[in-house]
Amino acid sequence: MIRVRIPKGHDPNLLGRPSLDLQVLGKPATVAVPPARIAFVKPRLAVTTGDAVRIGSVLFEDKQRPDLRFLSPGGGHVAEIRYGARRRIREIVVQLAPVEEVEAFDALEAADVEGLPPADLARRLMRGGLWPLLRQLPYRSIPDPAGEAPAMIFVGLAAREPFLPAPEVYLEGREDLLRFGLQVLARFCRRVCVFTEAARRLPPAVAELVTHRVSGAYPLDDPGVLLYRLRRHAGENRCWAVNGQDLLMIAAFLREGRFPTERTVVLAGSGVADPVHARIRWGAPLSQLTAGRLSCPEPRLVVGGLFRGFRGEPDGHMGYHESALTVIPEPGEREFLKFVRPGADLPSYSRTFLSRLRPHPRAVSTNVNGGRRACIACGFCAQVCPVDILPQMTLKSILAEEVEEVLAHGLLDCVECGLCTYVCPSKIELAETFRQTRLRYWREQARG
Ligand code: SF4
Ligand code: SF4
Repeated sequence: MIRVRIPKGHDPNLLGRPSLDLQVLGKPATVAVPPARIAFVKPRLAVTTGDAVRIGSVLFEDKQRPDLRFLSPGGGHVAEIRYGARRRIREIVVQLAPVEEVEAFDALEAADVEGLPPADLARRLMRGGLWPLLRQLPYRSIPDPAGEAPAMIFVGLAAREPFLPAPEVYLEGREDLLRFGLQVLARFCRRVCVFTEAARRLPPAVAELVTHRVSGAYPLDDPGVLLYRLRRHAGENRCWAVNGQDLLMIAAFLREGRFPTERTVVLAGSGVADPVHARIRWGAPLSQLTAGRLSCPEPRLVVGGLFRGFRGEPDGHMGYHESALTVIPEPGEREFLKFVRPGADLPSYSRTFLSRLRPHPRAVSTNVNGGRRACIACGFCAQVCPVDILPQMTLKSILAEEVEEVLAHGLLDCVECGLCTYVCPSKIELAETFRQTRLRYWREQARG
């Protein structure tokens, strides 16, 4: 067991942490896959409205890599294809039939895995639509199975972002499946690093599989942060990463020969009356999770974690990768003379407010308490950045289009944790700018 300390980061201590109780929700009327929210993919539809689909039928594929397929998490018919700005495909909505038909895939025994070449396993996962659950660092793109083997594979059993499913909840009773998943990953790379938080209590059968215990603050649950601390040379930058729950889905698919349809998610945040873990259908409607559970009149739905998620529409669905629905209140009117108040309950990184002296969980809302202004060189963003980037300097280099300088600042190490934006008193959208710049570099590199 290796212990790693992450010296930087920040835990915002927010209200709305979910209890560890697991509620199992029933079958919804619809499920969906949102192509627009799957980065690095240009979708080409394989269905039209009204088509009958089974669990595991192809809904769309990637135009550039047609063997990268995305399958239906439900059986029934395609009820609607929703488009967003510039005709991007926002969601493919499947109306579930009372009895759902299922596509069959080949099943594997643990004993079969040892003799299988990695290319064969990759082909099965591509066919089964689960290959995109694997991410390749540093961009978090979808790995190319024909490319070089990764230097390491990270399996994350940590949850530090407010709020993500606790590993002990989704792993309960599934230790065997995790072991099987690790056996599969070891076919791609012998260096599989299973990491969790130093203080997390996992069942003994899981704890013995953990190779790294990480201490520190958010985002210690990010494989990119661990890679930054562990790598010995630049050649090791090319690693793969997978979340523990996603690995269970991969393992279940290979072992049972059936496309997985369920996921453990959290419904959390200060806009929820009773934050919980829930087992739902993959791609279930947000309304199924929120029905009767909201405590604020104007809720903002954030799909996929407070710091890295995206805004959900009330008629939208959970994403392909996302396993959290965070609800925070829209504050409505601005409070009069708020800037002269002591801020006893204000969630803030700054020491300026009284809240610094009262360490208890605080409600966060969409109110950013002020407008955007020029950088005041406070250095907060550099203090929290877990991979030692100087975000304010990196931003300046991006705006000046100094590509070499941007890379020298370490933009490729950025784990897109969102902390720099959260702590910035000038409300500068640092993390989003970095995310878009990284995506642009990836596109340029992919084009060669
Ligand atoms: S630059 Fe910002 S988003 Fe990137 S790792 Fe540092 S704090 Fe996180
Ligand atoms: S936190 Fe914001 S204001 Fe402070 S140095 Fe960074 S970019 Fe500038």
